[in-house]
Amino acid sequence: MRSATTDPAGDPLAATGFDLRSLTKRFALGRGEVLALDETSLGTRKNTFLSLLGPSGCGKSTVLRILAGLETPTAGTALVNGMTTRELQRAHELGIAFQDSALLPWRSVAGNIRLPLEVAGVTPEPGLVDDLVDLVGLRGFERAKPAQLSGGMRQRVSIARCLVVQPSVMLLDEPFGALDDMTRQRLNVELLRIWTEKPATTLMVTHGISEAVFLSDVVAVMSPRPGRVVEVVEIDLPRPRTPDLMRTPEFHAYHDHLSEVLFGGAPARGTGVAG
Ligand code: ADP
Ligand code: MG
Repeated sequence: MRSATTDPAGDPLAATGFDLRSLTKRFALGRGEVLALDETSLGTRKNTFLSLLGPSGCGKSTVLRILAGLETPTAGTALVNGMTTRELQRAHELGIAFQDSALLPWRSVAGNIRLPLEVAGVTPEPGLVDDLVDLVGLRGFERAKPAQLSGGMRQRVSIARCLVVQPSVMLLDEPFGALDDMTRQRLNVELLRIWTEKPATTLMVTHGISEAVFLSDVVAVMSPRPGRVVEVVEIDLPRPRTPDLMRTPEFHAYHDHLSEVLFGGAPARGTGVAG
């Protein structure tokens, strides 16, 4: 149960989640440079599920990589739950998963899930890895190697690995983007269940309008590069959410609105794969 102070639909004085201020990123490219982010600002409350939607190359992953400490901003600041990336890393509060599951091929499922704790020099609580294996539905595959798993199963491992530090902040970069639609939908339902059980201030980068609406409290839409947040939509749909929700007029209204913001034209239905 989320407390009143962390309920994104509740108290206006609720604790801050993402707090990005005038985030700017220039990359050196040959003799010139690429302006990837142009003074992007964005704020959410703690334990909000935020999706970042926008055309390819608009800087979505750059935002996430800055929050993950993999890039430094050229200008501007980024705090999550009131902490800098460095502070979150030191406190082991950051869980990250990418489109490519990036598992170590020689390690078992359980060995991959444990990895962030080993890197941090932390002994896992007894039963934690087992619980995560159950949570992501991989019971019986603990000893399997990544090559013995399907793409969907590898992404489940990657989500479990993201959760092993019991993070208060989750950063997900198109976590199911490489999967077929059916697997992706199923994993989205599971991700939602997991997030409901273990709330965290979450940022998911996605191309999918439907999954953004289905999962999120807030969807932020970015402009083509140089990326800026051009629209923030609060998804005021009841929780818990089940796939039936996707057939309701309210869901379609959000979907169509976001399509219009993204494409400026006719809404693209279905799983909503944008450029
Ligand atoms: P998105 O995730 O929205 O598709 P990215 O954040 O990956 O976009 O990239 C935004 C822009 O920054 C793109 O034009 C990309 O080419 C550029 N870019 C990203 N990383 C680098 C880098 N390391 N060096 C140079 N340019 C980069
Ligand atoms: Mg990207």
